Amino acid sequence: MKAMVLTARRTPLVETDLAMPDPGTDEILLRVSACGVCRTDLHVVDGDLAAGKLPIVPGHEVIATVVACGANVSGYVSGQRVGVPWLGFTCGRCVYCLSGHENLCDGARFTGYDLDGGYAEYLVAHAHYCLPIPDTYDDLSAAPLLCAGLIGYRSLVAAGDAPRLGLYGFGAAAHLIAQVAAYQGRAVYAFTKRGDFEGQAFARRTGAVWAGGSDEAPPEELDAAIIFAPVGSLVVSALRATRRGGAVVCAGIHMSDIPAFPYEYLWGERSIRSVANLTRKDGLDFLALAPRVPLRPTVERYALSDANEALSRLREGRVTGAAVLVPDGARG
Ligand SMILES: [Zn+2]
Ligand SMILES: [Zn+2]
Repeated sequence: MKAMVLTARRTPLVETDLAMPDPGTDEILLRVSACGVCRTDLHVVDGDLAAGKLPIVPGHEVIATVVACGANVSGYVSGQRVGVPWLGFTCGRCVYCLSGHENLCDGARFTGYDLDGGYAEYLVAHAHYCLPIPDTYDDLSAAPLLCAGLIGYRSLVAAGDAPRLGLYGFGAAAHLIAQVAAYQGRAVYAFTKRGDFEGQAFARRTGAVWAGGSDEAPPEELDAAIIFAPVGSLVVSALRATRRGGAVVCAGIHMSDIPAFPYEYLWGERSIRSVANLTRKDGLDFLALAPRVPLRPTVERYALSDANEALSRLREGRVTGAAVLVPDGARG
């Protein structure tokens, strides 16, 4: 099967013919229909995240169909469509798993980082961590729901009941979460790179009531802010824009250092927190909500073999919405 493989960090993915993976007793062999390109993939390729296995097939926003099941797998039929998210396996025994925080599991393994992911024609996934995909979405549109949407949703929940919500970095996650926030009756304030007028226009089209540069103050004080861009200085900007008692949520897996700032920016019971990974419950809740909004992802389609180009465009901030890879022969 064809796969795009990272063999060394900070080098391009290499198109490789790999042996077809064999499902273990609790795993499913899946044929990939589409796989979203997430900023985390960029952090893996660029070496910002360096604990995962090498070589690795990246990709954790996978829409796929069941080909074969391991001996212990039940409840799946051949041809059924499923999603494979970032959370690929948890131990089920640690203090986090036992308290509803499996996203923080001591022994968690992640798709496209510890386990080969969806930048390929086939992959295997643990049956318990696959998610059902709503019928109303085609493969291409469904892919970004699996991380951009899902992690964005977890971040939105962490932001609390905030009628005026700031989103810093308006990429794949923000363009989905802006729609959920608008559906919930919140006002979204979108912050892009300074001078990114195209990004700001896209944010307004996607439901933001205001869009501007991240160096600008919003016209009103924010009740909470979510930071999707991997830029530590935005934590300080967001704190300054957020009212007393409000939360600043860092949604990314990696961020540059947060610069020192005066304590008075945090004072007044403002809080800063991060959001890490997802739980299976997040996945089920969010995928049930998406068709009710209804969420409409904006996607750019790429052939699987053009994964390096998709990553470059994401690195340069030139993707509108989400980039999605489609293997040859898949409908996408
Ligand atoms: Zn655990
Ligand atoms: Zn992701």
